[in-house]
Amino acid sequence: MELSNKEFILSKKVIIVGGGIGGLSMSCLLAKKGYEVALYEKEERLGGRCNLLEEKGYSFDMGPSWYLIPEVFEHFFKLIDEKIEDHLDLVKLEPSYRVFFDSGKKYNKDIFTNREKLKEVFESFEPNSFAKLEDYLAKAEEQYGIAMEEFVYRNYDSLFDFLNYKVIKSAKKFSLFKSMDEYIKKFFKNRDLQKLLEYQLVFLGGSPYNTPALYKIMSHVDFNQGVYYPMGGIYKLVEALERIGRKLGVSYYNGLAVEEIIVESGYAQGVRLENGHFIRADEVVCNADMAHVETTMLKKKYQTYPQKYWDKKVLAPSGLILYLGVDGEIPELTHHNLYFSFDWEKNFEQIFKKPIWPMDPSFYVCNPNKIDPKMAPEGKENLFVFVPIAAGMIYSKGQLKGYAEKIIKMIESTMGIKDLAKRIEYQEIFCIEDFKKKYNSYKGTALGLAHTLWQSASMRPNNFSKKVKNLFYVGANTNPGIGLPMCMISAEVTYKRMFGIKEIGNLKEI
Ligand SMILES: Cc1cc2nc3c(=O)[nH]c(=O)nc-3n(C[C@H](O)[C@H](O)[C@H](O)COP(=O)(O)OP(=O)(O)OC[C@H]3O[C@@H](n4cnc5c(N)ncnc54)[C@H](O)[C@@H]3O)c2cc1C
Repeated sequence: MELSNKEFILSKKVIIVGGGIGGLSMSCLLAKKGYEVALYEKEERLGGRCNLLEEKGYSFDMGPSWYLIPEVFEHFFKLIDEKIEDHLDLVKLEPSYRVFFDSGKKYNKDIFTNREKLKEVFESFEPNSFAKLEDYLAKAEEQYGIAMEEFVYRNYDSLFDFLNYKVIKSAKKFSLFKSMDEYIKKFFKNRDLQKLLEYQLVFLGGSPYNTPALYKIMSHVDFNQGVYYPMGGIYKLVEALERIGRKLGVSYYNGLAVEEIIVESGYAQGVRLENGHFIRADEVVCNADMAHVETTMLKKKYQTYPQKYWDKKVLAPSGLILYLGVDGEIPELTHHNLYFSFDWEKNFEQIFKKPIWPMDPSFYVCNPNKIDPKMAPEGKENLFVFVPIAAGMIYSKGQLKGYAEKIIKMIESTMGIKDLAKRIEYQEIFCIEDFKKKYNSYKGTALGLAHTLWQSASMRPNNFSKKVKNLFYVGANTNPGIGLPMCMISAEVTYKRMFGIKEIGNLKEI
């Protein structure tokens, strides 16, 4: 009797290691295709870096808080026959965020997607800057369109898949390979304005000095598309993916860490869990930190990316994170708030080149209960504070506590919040060592590999093992890269790799 395609696929079992956004998205795609999918996650809760902390009536999104590029999420849900509006109640934030400066004088500005309001803000920094912004954003939008059609949703098999005729032709027009800082300075003179057009690179784990201008697409994402928020918090996305995965038949095993990928004659046979159990599989897809998988879960001869590969890489920053429960209201803040360091270059130097605790750090404060009161008990506010710091730094408990206190004082002074320290009734600190412990993150980086030119597109680690035939990767360290939308796309790209689909744009069906 001949088996149909569907029956053949049904007999295949795939194991996914890690339940971050990449792993969860992959579980849905493969289950939809008809695979028997089992996902093993070492933590008790799914989501990876996109996680949830619930304490004393406060709900904190532990990692991501900016819901950007909504069209990517919409496309993904459609691909698995779901409507995003059945799962997420999305709100567009206007203003998108508030920026605070302390360049001699303290001041702040709200940033909008609304063109009239944005014009007012830009002109207040630098006369005639709005016309320059429009010119710059038109370029960023055109480049975004090309990137989404040609580069983001594709697999790379050689350098020429990236450095093709189109890229070389557009390299001059879009100054693709200049640093973002050089590029932005061509448009704007005001230093604070330059910072406003460069800070988005931290989302990519880079700095304006080590990220190429091809990532100006982030300005289109920020100023043209805007910033969204799912009511109830970003963790609603994880819950939605899990719900859909279960409906499609995925088995999620939380609190079970994988210790080794068992390989025989160049094929993964399955995985051995930390508790000693062996689980058989026809294919293995790893979403856990790639450096961790390659260097600790595979024998040396099966490592495509051994330790010496990671030693040379530019890592995205780690972060000092504070989760604060605050008594009383904080009218000084909006949903997203950013403070930009006065000596911008020095701050990035202290993160990327000469790792120390930054002296005048830039930082970010999220105050979601401005529009979502349920995130904190009545009359109280919830704050998530993120300070980018170098990955891999060694520190004592005392240093960590001291630096956290310094940051709280800085929030008080730069954002004008009186008595913040005295009003904190809940506090949790999360830093480099926690990234290592909780997510097995290499050197405690918060985001993975930075998007330098040499770590982008065909130069980013590929999504398959060159030594183990049926072992694949998904998530921030492979293509296209860092961030929720990119990790979701990475699942689609890895899916294409597994099924030998050569299409360059996004998939129309599974
Ligand atoms: C503080 C912070 C703020 C961020 N802000 C934003 C934002 O605003 N917007 C945005 O879009 N993105 C943001 N990001 C980036 C985004 O969160 C990540 O790029 C994305 O969530 C990474 O997903 P991933 O698929 O790579 O998996 P990860 O989140 O890295 O998950 C991997 C999973 O593998 C598990 N694992 C590890 N080892 C094992 C093992 N041995 N066995 C089983 N499981 C294992 C881990 O526990 C983890 O759950 C932020 C990240 C951080 C940390």
